[in-house]
Amino acid sequence: MARVELFHAIIVCLLPFKDKCAILPCVGRCTKLWEYVLVRELTVRGGPTLLCFLSNKIRRAMTTKERYRAFISHFAQQQPEATTELHYKNPFQLLLAVILSAQCTDKRVNMVTPALFEAFPTPVHMAHSSVEEIFPYIKSISYPNSKAKYLLNMAKMVVEEFEETIPEQAEDLQRLPGVGRKTAHVIVSVLHNQPKMAVDTHVFRVSKRLGLVDASATTPLAVEKQLSRHLPEAYVAQAHHWLILHGRYVCLARNPKCQSCALTSFCRYFSQTITS
Ligand code: SF4
Repeated sequence: MARVELFHAIIVCLLPFKDKCAILPCVGRCTKLWEYVLVRELTVRGGPTLLCFLSNKIRRAMTTKERYRAFISHFAQQQPEATTELHYKNPFQLLLAVILSAQCTDKRVNMVTPALFEAFPTPVHMAHSSVEEIFPYIKSISYPNSKAKYLLNMAKMVVEEFEETIPEQAEDLQRLPGVGRKTAHVIVSVLHNQPKMAVDTHVFRVSKRLGLVDASATTPLAVEKQLSRHLPEAYVAQAHHWLILHGRYVCLARNPKCQSCALTSFCRYFSQTITS
């Protein structure tokens, strides 16, 4: 009898979560049945199984706000200085590197940029060159022909329309050849800490797995809007790097390293896929 009373005490403590139960939504609307399931879990399945069961329920019951709070809290402590892994010394070099990094790894880009930066130290030097002169420096990365043209035309526009200076606003940057929304947001967030979220393949995948964005976000723009809406402005630029680095080294596309991941306590994918 005392055991049953204990069960009921636990149930009372957990009642705030019942309406958010994702596994048993019908149970969530029926306290009696919900109690029955829990009591049955306690009496039939035993302690350890029950703990797993309950932690599953609580994890799934996290609100979006709580999930963001846990995400920020973790990374603000663990990676407060996270930034781009591309090597650069000035805005022009970062712009070249980010354009080259499309469909290519940062590691590969970092291998070719030292010689490229030395050959073309300013937009003027590059604007006065040709595709044939740029190509040899970037031939080992993806899409070298297209990117050589982008770099040349980008440099020309910077010289002719922006007084040889890399624009500081995302809208101006997006006018440059080879610069899309994602590239422009990387530039302004890295260089000027502007709250512009850049969504690449890692940010897209990891934010969805974690549950920072919902299933309705099926495009990079939709993911960007949801992340920007929920993240405090002060963390938008930094969160981009947190998500990229986590996706690059832990939450891999094909085989996420969930067993060694520190985010399991609030990861939606983990609670729905690994522990269910
Ligand atoms: S628990 Fe797994 S799916 Fe979730 S963020 Fe970590 S690695 Fe990715």
